[in-house]
Amino acid sequence: MTDDRCVGCGERTLNERVVPLDVHHDGKCRVIQDRQTVCGNCGNVSYIGQQISDHQRAVASAVRDMDGLLSAEALQLIRRKYGFKQTDMEAMLSTGPKTWTRWERGKVPQAKATDKLIRLIAEDPCVARKLMEQAGIDNPDAAAIFLRIDENAKHLGRAVARAELRRLEGGNPDEIADRVADAAFETARGAHRQVTTFTEAA
Ligand SMILES: [Zn+2]
Repeated sequence: MTDDRCVGCGERTLNERVVPLDVHHDGKCRVIQDRQTVCGNCGNVSYIGQQISDHQRAVASAVRDMDGLLSAEALQLIRRKYGFKQTDMEAMLSTGPKTWTRWERGKVPQAKATDKLIRLIAEDPCVARKLMEQAGIDNPDAAAIFLRIDENAKHLGRAVARAELRRLEGGNPDEIADRVADAAFETARGAHRQVTTFTEAA
């Protein structure tokens, strides 16, 4: 399959194969399908070209699975949901440069503590917005999405308040005010998740 010579014996007898490979991590084990190069003459196993990053990604993915971490694809979805750049995520999470990029490419898994914070960002736009402000990020795309999130929550809150008012019409004014305020509050809180699902589809 290749003109390359074997680093073990120097013969041009290299072949690609896919074999199951055990990945051990933290007392657990996952089997990956490993694409590798094997020498038909001496049996030396190596990784060539694309096989190198494929191998790195497969191992990192197995580690993510064993640690219960978000996948590389999920990281990208979460970032795009808010219109953030990779450098924005690195600033928000105080990681080194290119760290998020490596996570998103799937070559390196994120730490468990960071994974928890990323899940909070994904679930709660307030967390995302606060981290963005703390990091001093000026991103018009993200700002526009946060504006939409606010607008949508406001619309939902108003709709619920109107429905409650109609339902309680003619009752005690204080009780009506409390019920309407509580209903609008609960709706605004719950709206976050709906809105982020909405922006994900956008
Ligand atoms: Zn060889």
